[in-house]
Amino acid sequence: MDGHDLLEAMRGMTQFESVGDAPQHENPRRSKEFNLSDCITHVSAGNRKMPVLKAMNTTACERNCFYCPFRAGRSSMRRVTFSPDDMAHGFMALYRAGAVEGIFLSSGVIRGGVSSQDPILDTGAILREQYGFRGYIHLKIMPGAEADQVQRAMQLADRVSSNLEAPNAPRLEKIAPGKQFENELLRPLKWVEQFRQSSEGRLRASSTTELVVGPAGENDLEILNTTDYLYRELRLARVYYSAFHPVSETPLDNYPATDDIRRIRLYQASFLLRDYGFDLEELPFIDNGNLPKDTDPKRAWADASLIHAPLELNTAAQRELMRVPGIGAKGAARIIAARRKAKLRSLDDLRAAGVVNARRAAPYVLMDGQRPVEQPRLF
Ligand code: SF4
Repeated sequence: MDGHDLLEAMRGMTQFESVGDAPQHENPRRSKEFNLSDCITHVSAGNRKMPVLKAMNTTACERNCFYCPFRAGRSSMRRVTFSPDDMAHGFMALYRAGAVEGIFLSSGVIRGGVSSQDPILDTGAILREQYGFRGYIHLKIMPGAEADQVQRAMQLADRVSSNLEAPNAPRLEKIAPGKQFENELLRPLKWVEQFRQSSEGRLRASSTTELVVGPAGENDLEILNTTDYLYRELRLARVYYSAFHPVSETPLDNYPATDDIRRIRLYQASFLLRDYGFDLEELPFIDNGNLPKDTDPKRAWADASLIHAPLELNTAAQRELMRVPGIGAKGAARIIAARRKAKLRSLDDLRAAGVVNARRAAPYVLMDGQRPVEQPRLF
């Protein structure tokens, strides 16, 4: 099987997976026309984006998750299965042609999670050991896979993932009653962290998961509570959120699609937890346990916390500076470097220091004891 045959056989099948840096930009195509971009996502590699093939060993599945286009019995889904040799060969042809630089490999479940994991591991092993491929490999952990399979996946891959689908067991029961939240989905992520810790640096594969937002009736607090646990305790690299879209021939085909702004707010809030030192309790939930949709969560927090107690930019610590809208990690570092040379007194000083969004920060800060004002431009 050459690379074109592989893409032709897979076309349109892996567009539903969120594995790249910006799954929000992935747009499930309704057209039957073949498009290479359906099978490719992009992952950060230093200062650039790396094209990664999204592939499945089989699109057949014996499970019946309510939201999933691959669920058992859905007649409109074409089923194809690739041998590990064919998958590896097809990928290497695409790699040598310069179309992709890495692979994300998943699968439907056939004869249980343990049996379904083996072809994924075999494909990874062929790539590493037979073809000597040293590039990026992301392997999916199948629901119910065993600990030694997870360990093997970590030996072969740069990244592994187990999709929780919902934030907790009762919510999962509503959308995927055939899956066990703790035993099948969460436990592999715990094993990954245990292997990382006990291997003295030999197993370093990062881990990710994905949650389907909306159809289980969960609120944002439930999702972010689980997200917080996954980042703090299991050191996941990324929690992906997929806004639910109804799929024909599924029990949820009449359920409304999730408003995409909800997914965007969840990402913004999750980055506050992961990168900005926020605690879950500080996030600006409203009465129903959801985040406000009309304001990003950092700004909503600042409106409640900083408007009447602005932060002095000349003395604040880096972690405090990063909480101000318009100032991120880079901006905070630039402010600290600039104020070592001279006091910051105006928004122009802030801009000169390299803070692009100085105007956004203005309502929440003091500069040398004064609230900054934008000087009207004469020309
Ligand atoms: S196990 Fe995976 S592929 Fe199968 S129906 Fe559920 S989500 Fe879809």
